Amino acid sequence: MNAPQQPRPPSVEQVMSLEGMGRLQEQYGRAILLTETRAVLAELGDAYRSRSLHPEALTDTRLVAAVKARIEQKQTPNLRRMFNLTGTVLHTNLGRALMPEEAIEAMALAARHPVNLEFDLTNGQRGDRDSLLENLICDLTGAEAATVVNNNAAAVLLTLGALGAGREGIISRGELIEIGGSFRIPDIMSQAGVTLHEVGTTNRTHLRDYENAINEHSGLILRVHPSNYSIQGFTASVKTQALAELGRKHDLPVLEDLGSGSLVDLSRWGLPREPLVQESLAAGADVVTFSGDKLLGGPQAGVIVGRRALIKRIKAHPLKRALRVDKVTLAALEAVLRLYQDPDRLHTRLTSLRLLARPEADIRAQAQRIAPVMARQLGEKWQVEAVPALGMIGSGTQPVARLASAALCVQPKGARRECNRALTALMAALRALPVPVVGRLDNNALWLDLRQLDDESTFTGQLPLLVVPAP
Ligand SMILES: *Cc1c(COP(=O)(O)O)cnc(C)c1O
Repeated sequence: MNAPQQPRPPSVEQVMSLEGMGRLQEQYGRAILLTETRAVLAELGDAYRSRSLHPEALTDTRLVAAVKARIEQKQTPNLRRMFNLTGTVLHTNLGRALMPEEAIEAMALAARHPVNLEFDLTNGQRGDRDSLLENLICDLTGAEAATVVNNNAAAVLLTLGALGAGREGIISRGELIEIGGSFRIPDIMSQAGVTLHEVGTTNRTHLRDYENAINEHSGLILRVHPSNYSIQGFTASVKTQALAELGRKHDLPVLEDLGSGSLVDLSRWGLPREPLVQESLAAGADVVTFSGDKLLGGPQAGVIVGRRALIKRIKAHPLKRALRVDKVTLAALEAVLRLYQDPDRLHTRLTSLRLLARPEADIRAQAQRIAPVMARQLGEKWQVEAVPALGMIGSGTQPVARLASAALCVQPKGARRECNRALTALMAALRALPVPVVGRLDNNALWLDLRQLDDESTFTGQLPLLVVPAP
């Protein structure tokens, strides 16, 4: 006698005619239904050939459920909303600045309707997309002219290429920085066709160093705000004003890359002070560049401000067209910049600033409120405490400064060391939630910094779905 035969998987047509498939077809369309049915049957076919096919996998409900699960997985967007509980507010990997409602509405409008992106409404002629923002930026910064590109890296590249290609760029050795994502000032200079002429030392550069470097090949002087690192101790650098005077004397433009830059003095809200764009311009910098999605609190963009004649050359460079921003970015940036017209209310209206300036007492109260909820969800093997924490601004802004905050500190109970595997499993479980949660691992504990937990009910509401690992 033969051994009992394994059941054979059905055909595509048989599965397609099962009850429940009609509803899936209505919902998702026939094409994806066919593709995923074939994929399910291919897997069953493999199991059949390796003699590991379980007859239960072939029941009608299991087949339909398998197809449905595959389709739903395919339909989940790759770009997902998350909870950023890392303590780093402008987190580059999590999309930097959260935008204010005004910007979100402006983006939706620009996406939904035709807009006067390059259309002059007064005369019906072709317009210039830069003119939408130029006056606003100039009013806020005191610049003569302005233009906007894809990000600040692009702003630096374009400015260097337009003003210094084929010539030498003089820069302090203390400012030859790497930003991350392989943006390195020396590489960007060479990409732009500017020959690096470095002066001074890592910790000290003097005005005479710049002065001695000037020769007949000099094209510009570059000053870079070393945002993401700080040198302390025996240091010296040359102020923008002194460099600007030197540049004027020798007819060399002075460019300043501020990185984050800011349009308002953040110390007003108890935050560390970043250099202001308007101060650099007032000190005589000829061109200043800064990011749209760092402290400014807007979309990814690079803003270039400065003297009219230089901005004109920058706008005429062929790279400008390649680096231009789209209507959605311009819409968001305009809405964000308009909020700066009323600095007194900025901390309530500009989302990123509201989060950065959120009072510690507020966050502490929230941590005390949520800690017992979290503790209940995690069960008796885990310990959850509301504790003081230190966060940071992020995006390389003020790397040494810390923001006093509060966090849920989670540890396996009674753990001394070697609890990293349990914590890693817990972090994975938090990432598997419908709105993935990311915190930070520190000192044998998982820290969930609540500075950015706006939507508390969604956070606590999904905790029952957490698959708690055993420590
Ligand atoms: C962040 C930064 C950049 C790059 O800006 P992106 O907007 O990220 O392209 C360039 N220079 C400095 C000094 C920075 O801090």
